[in-house]
Amino acid sequence: MIRNPVPWPHGARCAVAFTFDMDADSILHLAHHTSADTRVAALSMLRYGPEVAVPRLVDLYARFGMHQTLLLPAWCMERYPAAVETILKGGHEIAHHGYLHEHPNACERDEELYWFQRAIDVIARLTGERPRGFRAASYRFSRHSLDFLIQEGLIYDASLMGDDVPYLLENDKGQVIELPTHYAMDDWPHFMASRDLGYMMSPKSPPQAFEVYQAEFEAMWEYGGLWIAVWHPFLSGRLARCVAMAKLIEHMHQKGQVWFATLEEIAAHVRQVIADGHWTPRRDRLPYYEGPIPELGQATPTLAR
Ligand SMILES: [Zn+2]
Repeated sequence: MIRNPVPWPHGARCAVAFTFDMDADSILHLAHHTSADTRVAALSMLRYGPEVAVPRLVDLYARFGMHQTLLLPAWCMERYPAAVETILKGGHEIAHHGYLHEHPNACERDEELYWFQRAIDVIARLTGERPRGFRAASYRFSRHSLDFLIQEGLIYDASLMGDDVPYLLENDKGQVIELPTHYAMDDWPHFMASRDLGYMMSPKSPPQAFEVYQAEFEAMWEYGGLWIAVWHPFLSGRLARCVAMAKLIEHMHQKGQVWFATLEEIAAHVRQVIADGHWTPRRDRLPYYEGPIPELGQATPTLAR
């Protein structure tokens, strides 16, 4: 089913990374800049992430002896230093997730670079290390993002959805390793509900959502894939969901032959097997398109209405 499965360490059948995007209230300020401060219930829901869920998640993963990657908008790191300290004390990786959860593909090139570098400066100052990896806010990777990842020396991206195993993103300036996921692995469609943010979907029960995550895991285990969850502490760190998360982790450990790793460790391993000639990645060259496809010309956008 997978044509070029990665030779994972220790003969593991698949690699697993539970990653957490700790957006906290950055997304509310971005959506409602002038009124976010008055939306107290939404603020409280989002602050649950750094205040309650992150300590709980760090304790949970310590119980299993596992380390994760947490992706934090740098503004959230400045705003919630205790959460940063808890994450670092737990031995977890902190990766780049923008400055204020700004959408790269909504920015002009210079503007995107400004926020990208500003976030790197904060991460370097608060963790003592520059970030090794990046996930664009809301997966909004832009036509310039790869340039900036290469320019700033990051080794992986985790924003895209183009394969079941790692692959290379490249352009004329260089390349980075893509560690892909997809929407079924994101907790947003399963659990997000907020009047202030305009999401009025009916949240799934934990067993319904974790049935999806487990099905993805069984397939990745069978065929040698890469299982990356994209979860948010304020959503998946809620109590009943954390209980279900612990059950899934127990199941994975019982099944065995699973490599639990941070994104940084997975990227480093992939680099090594490529360098050793043990594995040849698929390559995606960016940009996919130089601009709008010419076939439509000046056709009106009503074609798809
Ligand atoms: Zn995010």
